[in-house]
Amino acid sequence: MKRVSILGSTGSIGRNTLDLIGRAPDDYDVVALTGGRNIALLAEQARTHRAQVAVTAHEECLPDLRAALAGTEIEVAAGAQALCEAAVRPAAWIMSAIVGAAGLPPGLKALEQGATLALANKESLVCAGPLLMAEANRHGARILPVDSEHSAIFQALVGEDIAAVERIVITASGGAFRDWPLEKLATATLEQASSHPNWNMGQRITIDSASLFNKALEVIETHEFFGLPPERIEVVIHPESLMHALVGFNDGALMAHVGPPDMRHAIGYALHWPDRREVPVERLDLAKIGALTFRAPDEGRWPALRLAREVMAAGGLSGAVFNAAKEAALDGFIDGRIGFQRMAGVVEDVLTQMSDECRGIAGFSLDTVLQTDHLARERARAVIGTQGI
Ligand code: NAD
Ligand code: MG
Repeated sequence: MKRVSILGSTGSIGRNTLDLIGRAPDDYDVVALTGGRNIALLAEQARTHRAQVAVTAHEECLPDLRAALAGTEIEVAAGAQALCEAAVRPAAWIMSAIVGAAGLPPGLKALEQGATLALANKESLVCAGPLLMAEANRHGARILPVDSEHSAIFQALVGEDIAAVERIVITASGGAFRDWPLEKLATATLEQASSHPNWNMGQRITIDSASLFNKALEVIETHEFFGLPPERIEVVIHPESLMHALVGFNDGALMAHVGPPDMRHAIGYALHWPDRREVPVERLDLAKIGALTFRAPDEGRWPALRLAREVMAAGGLSGAVFNAAKEAALDGFIDGRIGFQRMAGVVEDVLTQMSDECRGIAGFSLDTVLQTDHLARERARAVIGTQGI
């Protein structure tokens, strides 16, 4: 039996992971499950999958969790420290599926086990890619990508030499507003931004897909994970979301990964790696699909892509600033304090303000990343406060 833990089990990725694990209960021993305020779901998951420990990120939710699991042998805990302790409970495979920079400390901690970290939490690579990779090396741990594009790249690279890779192309659906006239974008509501044309995901990543901030994070994720220089990473708009990424080699070949828009494929690949096992996703009928279409992204419509390039050029702690400012701007949009199109302006403003203190800084620690994250959020909130809608 494989011992597995899921950080962020109550989210979209977490639920999909448990869906796969629940189909082969004899193959897995569930160690730790963690969630936020959805205590009923966390408790139900812990009971169904006979977890050793269930952890909520919020101390004030502990009494509810304790009550919900009373009479079972499942341990309960709460708070940021408890999340890190859950991450070091012995397990062979740990899913990092907390949303946002909050996933960085427990994800980093999990690497200390020298086990496999299935990484859905792209924010940790954007904030602290070099730190995460160095920590994995130091402990002999393996990081497997779970983001669909990065899983696709990883699969296209099997048996290949990274030195023969000329470029990587990741696709973007274009999100909820890809066909809206530019002048209408300022009126986009939270409800409209929270509905994705092809994927069913958590609310935050869905809105980030509409602004292309998700793709911006993924370009940086590609750079950090595969080590390719920024100028060899491309983004193409592909509205059908069936081709997830392509790897271009020095002989002109492009290896493309095609599959249904269902995260259980990428999660299953990371769960069963290095084997492939059956995963219950739709099988594509290519004749019925008929055509796959591609077009260049319009960087005027989506400034997030330009900002990602500036972040990679600046290096150092710029990724931490970018992600934190983006998270705070997204909070501002969700709370109705700024409009959809203002998010990129807020992020750009904070990047400009903090460029001197974070550019090119190497060998940073987790504490430095967390301090930078904190400061960038404060700055973003100040920008939102002065500018409003
Ligand atoms: P979600 O919002 O559905 O779930 C997030 C999970 O994190 C929940 O369990 C929640 O309780 C927990 N959480 C939230 N804030 C927390 C905090 N401060 N501390 C501790 N736990 C906290 O998100 P999701 O869509 O499942 O995405 C999870 C991660 O996977 C994100 O990094 C996202 O970018 C990435 N990802 C998601 C998808 C997808 O299809 N949903 C695809 C690719 C990558
Ligand atoms: Mg993705």
